[in-house]
Amino acid sequence: MADKEDLDAIVAQVAAEMRPHLGEGKVADYIPALARVDPRQFGIAVVTSDGAVASAGDAETPFSVQSVSKVFTLTLAINRLDEALWTRVGREPSGSRFNSIVQLEQEKGVPRNPFINAGALVVTDAVLAGARPAEAIADIAGFMRRLALDETVAIDAEVAASEQDTGFRNASLANFLRAFDNLNSPVEEVLEVYFNQCALSMNCRQLARAGLFLAHGGLDPLNRIQVTSPERTRRINAIMMTCGHYDASGEFAYRVGLPGKSGVGGGILAIAPRRAAIAVWSPGLCEAGNSLVGALALRRFVALTGWSVF
Ligand code: GLU
Repeated sequence: MADKEDLDAIVAQVAAEMRPHLGEGKVADYIPALARVDPRQFGIAVVTSDGAVASAGDAETPFSVQSVSKVFTLTLAINRLDEALWTRVGREPSGSRFNSIVQLEQEKGVPRNPFINAGALVVTDAVLAGARPAEAIADIAGFMRRLALDETVAIDAEVAASEQDTGFRNASLANFLRAFDNLNSPVEEVLEVYFNQCALSMNCRQLARAGLFLAHGGLDPLNRIQVTSPERTRRINAIMMTCGHYDASGEFAYRVGLPGKSGVGGGILAIAPRRAAIAVWSPGLCEAGNSLVGALALRRFVALTGWSVF
């Protein structure tokens, strides 16, 4: 394993190599709060098992985690429902757009995996069960703060409100799920929780720190809290590897070779099992909706550390 000095040098080198690429890709523009983010930003943070942090670039700048949140709500839902979750959502790559309605209709309301929007809505419904939306939102934010060891992690109210104002497609997916009897709570409540979880605002260091349990069989090595079981951790990582990058998950596995989850805010959380959690952020997205420079940086990071799982 690379020691701390090596890691510092590697993340500095990756950040330097990304400089000529800054601004590449297209910033998500479906809500104003994301559209106005300066695309020429890049951050990387690596948190290792002993809590050492190596970071470079804009690693302290908060960004909208968006779909990266789905990894954490999946953890909460698996803890709650265990195997029963898999009667409501599948675990195969979707091969279609992340917000496809056609696929949901064809598959009779059982979404292909927990990371496409329909699947994430089912997962959020599982987290919400038996609670009010405000309680579920507080639970999710509290979970993130505990994992990040940082009380300042917050939800961006402007982002959450705009998601709500423009989320017609997510509302359609939720109504479809409800029609197929695959949502238990009222549609508006599930959407409220979902939009708020997507609007969590975190920086690379906090996000990598929060994901560290996924590199250690579910045990957070710094908090010494067993967040989830080793078996569930393997499964979450497997789904990240196969489904974590929308319809470009195969390409990410091929180029990077780490379980990862991206979000349209430009963040990616990647897991190097038994070693570290890595978060990168750069707002410009590729066609499939993944951070273009972020994925390139992870590719270079893995080439320099040899940390691919393959
Ligand atoms: N809030 C976004 C949506 O549901 C998240 C998309 C994403 O990051 O994949 O459309």
